[in-house]
Amino acid sequence: MNFPTPAEQLTYFRKQQNQIVDTIQQLVEIESPSDVKAAVDRLGTVLASRFGELGAKVRVHRADKVGNHLEIRFKPSRASYSKPVLLLGHTDTVYPIGTISKMPFRVAKGRVFGPGVLDMKGGIALMLHAIEALLQWSGRKLPRPVTVFLVSDEEVGSQSSRAITEKLARESAAVLVLEPAAGLNGAVKTSRKGVGEYDLRVSGKAAHSGLDFEKGQSAVLELAHQILEISKLVDVGRGITLNVGKISGGTRVNVVPAEARASIDVRVTSKQDAVEVERKLRQLRPIDPNCKIALSGGMNRPPMERTAGVAALYAKAIEIAQGLGLGLEEAAVGGGSDGNFTAALGIPTLDGLGAVGEGAHAEHESILISELPRRAALLAGLIAQL
Ligand SMILES: [Zn+2]
Repeated sequence: MNFPTPAEQLTYFRKQQNQIVDTIQQLVEIESPSDVKAAVDRLGTVLASRFGELGAKVRVHRADKVGNHLEIRFKPSRASYSKPVLLLGHTDTVYPIGTISKMPFRVAKGRVFGPGVLDMKGGIALMLHAIEALLQWSGRKLPRPVTVFLVSDEEVGSQSSRAITEKLARESAAVLVLEPAAGLNGAVKTSRKGVGEYDLRVSGKAAHSGLDFEKGQSAVLELAHQILEISKLVDVGRGITLNVGKISGGTRVNVVPAEARASIDVRVTSKQDAVEVERKLRQLRPIDPNCKIALSGGMNRPPMERTAGVAALYAKAIEIAQGLGLGLEEAAVGGGSDGNFTAALGIPTLDGLGAVGEGAHAEHESILISELPRRAALLAGLIAQL
């Protein structure tokens, strides 16, 4: 078969639509919460054999606490000196085992519903079908080397997989992340905020609230002051947000509390802002000199900034989309992904190339079936033409 025209590619994927949905069903019905290693590994085994059937070499990176990570490599047709393109995805979901019985896989109103269907089992299905098509079109070998890396711990911060993601990114020409598109118009993500998590612990002095009130130093009161100080660091215009999302403290209502604690989620759009916010958090001092405060934590995902490399990759995606008769928009989002790590290394990264839908991490999580052929064609085009 000669390499098809863009219009023929789209027609091919429209005919494949039901098979893509079948693949998504297979992946969604194997539940894979980040914290149940055996479950994530079950899905990993199925994916290793699906990619293996396409001729890939699969290397399993064993992990102790989380599921194993899968490094999947496709060799190109002839000795090619071009660097591979890296496709990134994650096999884990945020849904506990048993969710599938409450929100089963189902097809309705032109959509597919189910836990993890959008974030991001739909994206993994797109990888499988785009690669399968390219293999057919170019005669059983891909036009360029392709590495697929599926991590098992993205939803819990990617600590176990991060170093491997970074190593594979460094040897790649570009990184395509199959996380969900932004919004129902299918925008790709060209920048993401950096994400940090900090913990502020306050210690005061316990005392009986009736007999010795004045001898106590309230850690809860001190924490309240600190939270107000932290809120002053928010600058929504610059995209800097700090959310004190969890607080705890005290033991009983009639005891002046000796301990209190707050967890802070930090989001920033640039590396400089990350440094500046951290510096300001470390400068916090007790308002009540008899209390002590201690800050721990840090940034766990650097921001994905819209560098020249990212912009060039996006321009290429627009060109391919236009060839397919599609429009393509870009979006900046507040959530982080493994694309944050690869972009921070200076490797051109385009994110949000996965399924189009809504309700990630929620009961109405769903994807638009009619968009699947377009996304598959866009991905195949990017792999072939980068
Ligand atoms: Zn995701």
